[in-house]
Order: sequence, then structure tokens, then C-alpha cells
Amino acid sequence: MVDWSGGNDTGPTPRKDAIWACIVRNGKALDPEYLRNRQIAEQRLDALIRAELKAGRRLLLGFDFPFGYPCGFARAMTGTDDPLALWDWFDQHVEDSPKANNRFDLAGRINLQFGGRGPFWMNGLRRDIDGLPRTKSDYSNPFPNRRAVETLAKGSFTCWQMAGVGAVGGQVMMGLPVLNRLRHRFAGQISVWPFEPLDKPVSFVEIWPSLTLGAPPEGRIKDDWQVEQVALTLSGLTEQELDAQLNVSAAEEGWILGVPQDKPNVTPPPLRNDCFALPAGVNWTPVDEALACLRDRLHPITASETMALTKACGRVLAGDVVARRSNPPQPNTAVDGYGFAGPVADGPQIMPLIDGRAAAGIPFDGDVPEGRALRVLTGAALPAGVDTVILEEDVTVKDGHIAFLGPLKKGANTRRAGEDVAAGDVALAAGRRLTPADLALLSAVGIAEVNVRKPLRVAVVSTGDELVEAGESAGPGQIFDANRPMLLSLIERMGFVPVDMGRVSDDRDALRNRLDQAAEQADVILTSGGASAGDEDHVSALLRQAGAMQHWRIALKPGRPLALGLWSGVPVFGLPGNPVAAMVCTLIFARPALGLMSGEGWAEPQGFEVPAAFEKRKKPGRREYLRARMRDGRAEVFHSEGSGRISGLSWAEGLVEIEDGARHVKPGDMVRFLPYGSFGL
Ligand code: AMP
Ligand code: MG
Repeated sequence: MVDWSGGNDTGPTPRKDAIWACIVRNGKALDPEYLRNRQIAEQRLDALIRAELKAGRRLLLGFDFPFGYPCGFARAMTGTDDPLALWDWFDQHVEDSPKANNRFDLAGRINLQFGGRGPFWMNGLRRDIDGLPRTKSDYSNPFPNRRAVETLAKGSFTCWQMAGVGAVGGQVMMGLPVLNRLRHRFAGQISVWPFEPLDKPVSFVEIWPSLTLGAPPEGRIKDDWQVEQVALTLSGLTEQELDAQLNVSAAEEGWILGVPQDKPNVTPPPLRNDCFALPAGVNWTPVDEALACLRDRLHPITASETMALTKACGRVLAGDVVARRSNPPQPNTAVDGYGFAGPVADGPQIMPLIDGRAAAGIPFDGDVPEGRALRVLTGAALPAGVDTVILEEDVTVKDGHIAFLGPLKKGANTRRAGEDVAAGDVALAAGRRLTPADLALLSAVGIAEVNVRKPLRVAVVSTGDELVEAGESAGPGQIFDANRPMLLSLIERMGFVPVDMGRVSDDRDALRNRLDQAAEQADVILTSGGASAGDEDHVSALLRQAGAMQHWRIALKPGRPLALGLWSGVPVFGLPGNPVAAMVCTLIFARPALGLMSGEGWAEPQGFEVPAAFEKRKKPGRREYLRARMRDGRAEVFHSEGSGRISGLSWAEGLVEIEDGARHVKPGDMVRFLPYGSFGL
């Protein structure tokens, strides 16, 4: 691993911000090397590559500068998108010697091709350079400021900044020609990642030590320590783990090894105008048919974004998450005890103990010879020579020996590497709404950032001339708005973002305005009231005028018709005004539809078959949902089925679902109970 530098030779004394390199071979680091200038570094790399090729070994060479520039630059300079053509270009134009180089002049010359105010900026020299701004005050960049990977790697510098602490611009310019010469000198033996398939003995990869490493230990030069750490970490990866990290596509700009690559952010296509059209000729649509219709027509409508895993609980994964590291990463002991090579035969056993021990995070450095045992503590990596562990409770220790009774199978009391999750496996699939346990799982396999959907924003509007806000004074004929607080909190509990759009009277213009506002602020609109076909039912009327409304007459109790439509492309669920029906329709219809639009897929509530504690006769032709709760292992239902009885909704802890056909339920018969929790509440 090489820490590069764009600066000049300052002499033989090792110092920071110079070129440093460290070789790790078979897991052991050689002393880091101080390479005082690029000419020496190039000779050293040349000799290393030559020696390794001769010995028939493979070499992963990492350099801490971008292998490509933000997209568009390669084409502007060379006429092709091929970043290696840009390498050739810099190779031809860079002049470099231990005491001087032309990087600032070259940056200025390039800038002049684009108007002289960018893309490069900052001049590290005293003399002014035509075309190279000293500060960003008059800066203008015709290209993106950052590569895609740099938007994910927080704290990274852009390759346009030519000077200043941490700036990488000079390093790129002064590094690419060296790599380019090596690439041509050893043609056919070197692959450049991620532009070329890694099928050659030598691979060049881009690294960025500060991505994961902080300050060095006291007394150590940062660059010297960092190259050693990166080399050790990379050499400690399994082939699968390294493979998972190398598996990125970044055609033009290159990528930093170790930054997880997420699916690009996409804005999903809008819903189709006819998405709520029901099959013609059906008068009362069965619940399952209506649900199948929503399931077929709707799709995710939220864009994705990348965020820290620690902040992502409750968010929906936009893509599969692949484990970057196995869990456990190496074979280890599951108990406190003594480790040795298994298996062990039947009968009493005595084994000499060797000095030392292995504990979690403090591996034993050495081999455990055949026939001997080592003290091991839970979580410790199994040292060479140990594959089996005996529980400390089953052992007598005396005079440097352990005694115990066999037999013991090989592998007893140990955990295999990757037995939980293997690197490269899909740890969690797209659509997963992240739970606290998921955060543990993803952390364990090395995921710090996830690509998730933006939360679905759901607007709630209550309609009706009779409505006033609880707490206000209510005149005769007025009632308090009960639906809005309920719907807003249902939305929130189900994992979406509620947007309160207030109450609106039964006035077409007012409702039209409110729907316009809601459509601007939210991804979906829920209205309650005014959804039937009556005179005052303005939600239906407006949606019908807008041309994208469907009246859904669903064979369902409780629930009058649902009005579904698109308002300025935003789906509207016109729920019944009746609070009981509004809640049931939200749980049964809106919730799976919202889930689908939010990217989590179609979620069926998980019900349980339980004995009924009630009797009920039901006619065929529609499905019924009864307010219910479990007591003593049986489902009770609310004493009244009156759809105005809000107290029953509150009394209940779930719904009993009775199928579409005729049924006579007697106490003790099995019925399907859907706890509120099964709707994500
Ligand atoms: P509608 O669907 O507008 O005909 O309303 C059906 C019934 O639900 C009427 O009795 C309304 O007063 C009542 N209702 C409508 N909206 C609400 C609300 N937000 N809170 C409580 N009751 C409501
Ligand atoms: Mg009304």
C-alpha cells in the first residue's frame, strides 16, 4: 500500500506528507518504507513488481489518489470516456523532477481551455499562474465537483483542489504518470481497478486510508502508520470479503476500495392514470379482488438516498445489502474453556497446557502443537492448531495439565467463520423496513451506510361542513373531527410521514385548493368523508372531474364506497367519513398500498386462527371486520357493530375477519384474528 505525495523531495529525513509504502506478505507487515521522491518511488515499484512477477506471486498495489476524475473530464481532454486515455494524457504533459514539477502550470493550462476559472483551483506557488484561481471566490467548474464515490466518502477532498492541507489534486496529477508508465512497462501483467478485469498478476487499486483510520499512535508518522494498517487490513480479508469490496462498477471515475457501492439514486416513474380502474361489469368488488388490483397497479414512488446505518431504523432498504465481512469473521470459541485439535476419543483425557491464552480481540500469536491445549475465552479467534474447545466446567486443571472425559467431536464449542452470515451474501433484501435487530446484523457484517427510500409522505384531510376541532366550541349539528388525529397517528405508526392538511368544508373550490396544496407536499393523500356518490360528496365529484377517479364499491363491512384517484399525479384514497369505516379501510386497503408505494412491498397482515368467544350469523356476499380483542385465548368482539361506535375501535386490540360467504360462528369455532400490531401499529 502506498501513500502518495504531489510535493517535492525534502531530503533523507522521514517526514509526514511524503511517499510511504508498506508491504504485507502472508499477513506480516514489513517495515514501512520512506520514499523521498517520486523517482525513487517509481524505481522501487518497478523493482517490486519485477521481483514478485519473477517469484510467480500476485500483488495488490494500492495508491491513495483517485484513478479517475469526475465524469466528463476524460472526454473533454481526450475525446473518449476512457480514464486510461487520461492517464496517457497526463503522462505526456506532466514534467517531474525531485525538486520541481509543472503541476500548477498544467492545471492553469487546462483551466484556460475551459475559460480559466476552473475546474482546478488553488495555487501553491508564490508566482501567479494564468488561469489558476487562488481561491474559490471566482471559481467556476464545468465538471461535477465530486466523483460519485466522494459523495459517499465523507471528508474526502476533490481532485480539483491543487494545494492546501489534505488536498489531493496535486497527487493525482503527479501519480497517474508514474502508474501509467508502470502499466505500459509491464503491459499484460497489470490490471487497473475498477476499469479492467482483475485477471492479471498485478492489480492497481485506489485506497483512501483516512476513510477508516484516525490519528496514528504517539510517536508514529501518520502516513507510515496508515499504509501499514491498510495493508494489514486488506491482507486479513478472506477472498470472498475482498471480492465483495472489489465488486463495483465505476466505469469512468474510479472508486475507493472499501466504500460500499449502493444502487444509484433513482426517481421512480409516476403512477399510471388508470391505476385505479377496476374490472368492468363488477358491481360489488370482493375485497381480495380489490386488493389484487392495488397490488398489480401500484409500485414504489419514493426516490432513494444514502444515510448512516445508525440513523436508518424504520427506513426501507432501496437495494439488497451485501455483507462486506463474514459473521463471525474468523472461527472462534463459543465458550470459556480450553482449545486443542479435535476430535477426542472416548474416556479420560489428560493434556498439557501451553503458556498463554486467547481472548476476544486478543488473539494468541503462535501455533498450538498437536496434543496440547490452550486457555481460550468466549469470542477468541481460534489460533492455529485449535479447532475444538472443551467447556471450562468440564475440566480439572492441575500442574499445567487439563483432565476431562471424552469423547468430543471435532469443532465442538466453536463457531465457524461465516456460520451466521458469509461475506458476499445478501444480509437483508431490498424492501426491508429496518428494525433495531437489523441494525445489529448490518453492523456485524461491516455496513455503516445504507441506501434507503425517502420516507413516504402521506397527507391527511378531513372533509365535512359539520366538523370542528376538538377543544373548539361546537354548535348544534357540529361534531369534532375524530378521523384526522386517528389517521395522522396511524400513518406515523405504520412508518410513513404524516402531513396534516387540516379540515376543509364541503365546498368544491376550497377542497380543490386543499388537494392542490396536499399534492405539492405529499406523495399520497388520504381524505375522509365525502367519498360516496351523494350531493355533498365533493371528494368523489372533484376526482371524477379530474378524470382519474374510480368509485370502488367493495363488498366489505364496515365501509361504504372508497374513492380512489389521482390528483396532479398524486394518488388519493378517499376514505369513508365514518371513523370505524375509515380505520378499517385504512388498515385493509390503504396500508398495503402505502407499503407498496413506500418500497417495502405488499405486506399482508399476519393473522391467527383462534377460538371465538362470541356467536354471530352472517349473510353471504361481503367480508366483515369486527372490532375484537383476545382474552383468555379467545377472541371477543365489541358488543355493538354500530359503525358510529368509536369507543369500540378504542376498546378493540385488533379485528376479526369473517370471510365473504355465509357463516354462523358459534363460541369455540375458529376465527381469524388480526391484531392491530399485524398492521404495523
Ligand atoms: P360522509 O362520508 O362525509 O357522508 O360522512 C359519514 C359520516 O361520518 C357522517 O356522519 C359524518 O359526520 C361522519 N364524519 C365524517 N368525517 C368525520 C370526521 N373527520 N370525524 C368524525 N366523524 C366524521
Ligand atoms: Mg361529509
